[in-house]
Amino acid sequence: MKTRMIFVGPPGAGKGSQAKILSEELNIPHISTGDMFRKHLKEQTPLGLMAKNYTDKGLLVPDDVTNEMVKDRLSQEDVKNGFILDGYPRNPYQANYLDELLSKSHLKIDVVLNVTSSDEVIIKRITGRRTCPVCGAIYHIDNFPPKQEGICDNDGEKLIQRKDDLKETIVKRLDVYNKETFPLIHYYKEKGLLVDIDGNRDLKAITMDVLKILEQQ
Ligand SMILES: [Zn+2]
Repeated sequence: MKTRMIFVGPPGAGKGSQAKILSEELNIPHISTGDMFRKHLKEQTPLGLMAKNYTDKGLLVPDDVTNEMVKDRLSQEDVKNGFILDGYPRNPYQANYLDELLSKSHLKIDVVLNVTSSDEVIIKRITGRRTCPVCGAIYHIDNFPPKQEGICDNDGEKLIQRKDDLKETIVKRLDVYNKETFPLIHYYKEKGLLVDIDGNRDLKAITMDVLKILEQQ
């Protein structure tokens, strides 16, 4: 069974949801860079403070800081049976660091799951999102509508469309993603680790697919 994996894929292709489901199914931790950053910031660790220095200025957190956070996370006990990385590595430099880090423990990445989806489907999925500004509940106008249109089921608040979910924002993010991730996809393709997953299906079908891939030798 393959248990050391990386999820890659554009925003809105469903890799986060998939990683979460698998983490529960396989009982291995889901390590997302977003959660990792938040935790370091909250606990005001030296790495968290260093990262904050950059994000406060609107700059990207340098690779070396992110790499150190991942090193720290992968030294913890709960990853011994495997892990699911989500949002890391972002580029070949980080990927190379990860390979070297794992090789020190005679380990390696087993598989890189590339959840793909057409831009059109992603745009439809994201622009249909509606969020409750009070309780944070997320709805979708087609796939998960509230009982009453435009109103939160939990507290009756008027739902909003976040700036991140506007069409022009998502088109820009997809463009950045495609440019940034191309070299990373290439890196893992060369190593024979990349497997494409069709993300244009329901979550359950995708999970079944992924489990089959993980079971292959
Ligand atoms: Zn609400």
